[in-house]
Amino acid sequence: QSPLDVERVREDFPILDREVGDGVPLVYFDNAATTQTPNEVIDTFGDYYRGYNANVHRGIHQLSQEASIAYEEAHDRLAEFVGASGEREEMIFTKNTTEAANLVAYAWGLNELGEGDEIVLTEMEHHSTLVTWQQMAKRTGAEVKYIRVDPEDGSLDMEHAKELIGPDTAMVSVVHVSNVLGTVNPLSELADMAHEHDALIFGDGAQAVPNRPVDVEDLDVDFYAFSGHKMAGPTGVGGLYGKKAILEEMEPFMYGGEMIRRVTYEDSSWNDLPWKYEAGTPLIAEGIAFAVAADYLDDLGLKNIRAHEERVTAEAYDRLSRIDGLEIYGPREDEERAGLVSFNLDGVHAHDLSSILNDHGVAIRAGDHCTQPLHQKMDIAASVRASFYLYNTVEELDALVEGIESAKDIFA
Ligand code: PMP
Repeated sequence: QSPLDVERVREDFPILDREVGDGVPLVYFDNAATTQTPNEVIDTFGDYYRGYNANVHRGIHQLSQEASIAYEEAHDRLAEFVGASGEREEMIFTKNTTEAANLVAYAWGLNELGEGDEIVLTEMEHHSTLVTWQQMAKRTGAEVKYIRVDPEDGSLDMEHAKELIGPDTAMVSVVHVSNVLGTVNPLSELADMAHEHDALIFGDGAQAVPNRPVDVEDLDVDFYAFSGHKMAGPTGVGGLYGKKAILEEMEPFMYGGEMIRRVTYEDSSWNDLPWKYEAGTPLIAEGIAFAVAADYLDDLGLKNIRAHEERVTAEAYDRLSRIDGLEIYGPREDEERAGLVSFNLDGVHAHDLSSILNDHGVAIRAGDHCTQPLHQKMDIAASVRASFYLYNTVEELDALVEGIESAKDIFA
């Protein structure tokens, strides 16, 4: 029994009523890429542009004040959502998780990293952090090391983590929940290991914040990033949590208006947190809608969302594992797994399978899911990923299984 009234929840998401192809109902299983948006979030944009569209922070007029209050309070809301007691001062709005990683890499890494420093990543990092730290290492002379992933069950080799994280480690950057394997990594244990050696830790929460209660202070991470469009919010906005003391010390990422306090021809000083890290006119409507998405998820309850997803995922795992020739990656049946299942069907390329599934109305993703090195390690060119969210039902899995069976017939 799901703790969510899913039929009622689905009414909040108008897109779920649409049909695709020759009039087949849409089954949206591409939630790890982008989730759908409830009416409350969509309506925020109309309300903003019809009612109080204005630039923020500096206006005396009423519209600007209304927009400023809503935009600034949205930071408090997202800070609270991930358990940051420093409120807005610890919550920077970025474009997405990728920009949040780049912000830290440029603002902190470019200044702090050098020869002899090590950046410890995992073999399951998304390109958003992997490429960013890899390239920042090249620019600064630092070295990147990767904690091994067990190819059998997608778990992180914590013994190897202990070997790699040491006195030369400057930064540990770890994906909290893998977008390919569905592995949930022991982030707080890794944070302890990093801090033991005076290193910082960056958590990639893109796949964690949408579907489980996250508390950055319990995890004791120094930075933590996530994206609005993966948590029922809009595209174009993400959050970067940072510990206040570190954000105060760190250099700005981008320069320009809004991020300054005082400017002369010779020099400039920086605005208060978090505005120091938000140069130029920010993503005002998106930021306000981001907070509405957080409210929406809180109203349903993150624990309920997680329990619902677990139920759909367990059923998906069970049904997929009974299909001959289908190989599932990541945690085994009895291990913790996030709300996604990645797999391959023997003899059918992931893209062909995804195209046949599309004919059945099923939206899933095929490719390397922005983890090319992980796919190389697993010795596969691509994989198919079905990922679930709070509005998906167990009944929708029928279309997935039927689509796979018909692909088997076509390619037999
Ligand atoms: N990290 C993980 C684990 C992800 O799944 C994604 C999105 N696929 C990202 C980072 C990047 O998110 P965005 O594209 O919103 O920057």
